[in-house]
Amino acid sequence: MNIDLSAAPGVSAPADALLRPNTLTIDLDAIAERVREIRAAVGPGIRFFATLKADAYGFGVLAVARTVIEAGADAISIVSLADAVRLREAGLTCPVLVYAGALPDREVVQAVEAHGLMPTLHDDSTLDAYVRHARGPLDCAVKIDVGQERIGVPAERAPAFLARIAASGRLRLALVNAHPYIASGAGALEALQWQCARFTEACRAAEQLGVTIPLRVLASSKVLRMTSAMSLDGIDPGQGLFDGLGLDSAAGQARRWPLACLTSRLIQVRRLERSAFLEQAPFPLRANMRLGIVPIGYSDGIHRAHAGCVLVHGRRSPLLASPSLEYTRIDLTEVPGAQVGDEVVFIGAQGEERIAPDEVMRARGIARLPDLMLELKPSIARRYVRVASSGR
Ligand SMILES: *Cc1c(COP(=O)(O)O)cnc(C)c1O
Repeated sequence: MNIDLSAAPGVSAPADALLRPNTLTIDLDAIAERVREIRAAVGPGIRFFATLKADAYGFGVLAVARTVIEAGADAISIVSLADAVRLREAGLTCPVLVYAGALPDREVVQAVEAHGLMPTLHDDSTLDAYVRHARGPLDCAVKIDVGQERIGVPAERAPAFLARIAASGRLRLALVNAHPYIASGAGALEALQWQCARFTEACRAAEQLGVTIPLRVLASSKVLRMTSAMSLDGIDPGQGLFDGLGLDSAAGQARRWPLACLTSRLIQVRRLERSAFLEQAPFPLRANMRLGIVPIGYSDGIHRAHAGCVLVHGRRSPLLASPSLEYTRIDLTEVPGAQVGDEVVFIGAQGEERIAPDEVMRARGIARLPDLMLELKPSIARRYVRVASSGR
């Protein structure tokens, strides 16, 4: 049985003052900037689905959805049906495409219809469930697998499948999409071209069976990074909304990051005075070392999101040992003025110094900004800003 404490009388979300002082600041304008770049690159006629999987890759689906629509995306695509319903309940009226995830029983189909969402069909059993439970007419998407070998109707079976929808009476085909697999190294572009050809061929064959396909969508971020030739009728980038598409690498250095900063505060500062079992200490001790304790640990994901040092009083202070469950130790020997309550910056700027997200990504072997973001657990409070002051 699930016990939802937040729903129990007398129990509410903790007040900010009761939380540990850990804050992740998200710059929504930096996300808007990337959306505008993508829109400018594909032009106005292309339907732009902003893919917000996994709570918008950890950036927070509600705030990000509003931001991307305002900045020029036409629609949201998402896996979590629960998130899709939250978007509707928050007043978002744009088209919302829901990728496969929830098993389509009666309740799911009714929720999809009640909230005006567009479900994705990927095999006969999902099609049957929607035909059985939908009141209709219901706009649907069909996902074709062209080479990811993941979810979808195999490309060669897609024409007959698409014809079944047209014949169902209840369902209306609104869109056909595919999510190609991008290999690394030699042959990657050719393999992508083959997948795109499978997709367009499946659509063409379906049209020969009398099916009308209003929208064909195949270009995810990786596709858009490789070629502009596959935008078809629409695009559905996800990570690229945060990472950019590398369309303007000259501006890349100076631009703002959607993950603007990650900060905490010192909760203890003290001099280390140990003279025995130095070999068995948790980290190498030196004379006159000053230790700082930060109340963030690997339960918050910080072990995957630090550059080996933090900023205190605008100076780089090394981490001592790897973060433990709830605490991280830092070396404050070179920051003699540091006191309890002082700000500790894991990502962001302080004074003249700065630890940018890409420095953390390099240090931790993380290739993409959304992957760094997904390391940071919901236990860290999120704060949204619209205009980050320079560097922060
Ligand atoms: C995840 C996903 C995307 C977005 O992919 P990115 O590589 O993050 O741009 C697009 N389409 C489908 C069907 C997806 O599942």
